[in-house]
Amino acid sequence: MNYKIDCLSKAELQKLVEVLGEKPFRGKQLFKWIYQKGVIDFSSMTDISKTFREKLSKSYSFTKLKKEHIVTSKLDGSKKILFKLEDNNFIESVLMFDENRITACISTQVGCKMGCKFCNTAKIGFVRNLTAGEILRQVIELNNILSESGKKLTNIVFMGMGEPLDNLKNLEKSLEIILDEDGLNFSHRKVTISTAGLLDKLEKLVNKNFKVNIAISLNASDNKKRNLIMPINKKFDINDIVKVIKKLPVPKRKRITLEYVMIKNFNDSTADALKLAKLLNGLPIKVNLIIYNKTKRSNLDSPDLNSALNFQKTLINNGIATFIRKSFGADIEAACGQLYASYIKTL
Ligand code: SAH
Repeated sequence: MNYKIDCLSKAELQKLVEVLGEKPFRGKQLFKWIYQKGVIDFSSMTDISKTFREKLSKSYSFTKLKKEHIVTSKLDGSKKILFKLEDNNFIESVLMFDENRITACISTQVGCKMGCKFCNTAKIGFVRNLTAGEILRQVIELNNILSESGKKLTNIVFMGMGEPLDNLKNLEKSLEIILDEDGLNFSHRKVTISTAGLLDKLEKLVNKNFKVNIAISLNASDNKKRNLIMPINKKFDINDIVKVIKKLPVPKRKRITLEYVMIKNFNDSTADALKLAKLLNGLPIKVNLIIYNKTKRSNLDSPDLNSALNFQKTLINNGIATFIRKSFGADIEAACGQLYASYIKTL
């Protein structure tokens, strides 16, 4: 049998090396080679004995992602990378540059089950979950691209293809390694999970003491509208979201982000903003307004900047901290699922 070694956490690698008759510290050495140095062949691991490396390579291999296509935005330099997986499926990741921040937007599934009406990934349907190795490899590959110009990722957002909390086990494993100081060594303050609102899984994640930032895609100010664009609202609705936000043990200065994709003439009016302000009054949250990124295959429209600014002003005047998310890669179809869709012509 051939197993992937880059799906294993530090504790698992330590156990593995012990089973194979080596000292536990070899596990930490392996861990550092795989995740910190991003090495994908045993032969480069020079401080590990040749015999042990050969033994490992008989049963273990590395996850490989092929960079199939890279597009760079002329507007802001952001890059969208289409990766081909070993089973010939495709996923995409995005690199965004903003002042001192370099953010990776990472995928967690091939396709998605959520079926949100405004989202391109939804049109693919659900194909499969990514392994922890495939999630982590995206981060490592993006860092490799950056290292050519002496740069490094500073932030990770799980806002690419898929619903992260619908792949909880592999998400948790990848987070463990992303946050491990001998692994990718990110601070929990620099990592954000975005969810369509799988609240039971969200509670599980937070209760396991993962302190990463949480963003929930709210996208409407009442259940009637949210039902129209997000089928998940039939299972967990806006009232449930409010209840969970009140209950989650999130530290004060670490407010939960509520994402609100603004769609022209659907959820962008002053009345919507006032309803939203009333709903969110007193909650430990901030709102991130996202201008809907129009896709070729959609009849929805983006609002003009003025209505977004007015919406923001109404929320702020009503005591809600509100930001308009800077849009990256508008010229390279950088919204969820867009590169995939333009590359895979059948969609
Ligand atoms: N499934 C997760 C993460 C992936 S989507 C979630 O729903 O949060 C990441 C964010 O992109 C979500 O807030 C989603 O509402 C938003 N989004 C999806 N398609 C978009 C589009 N065409 N334009 C703007 N934002 C979009």
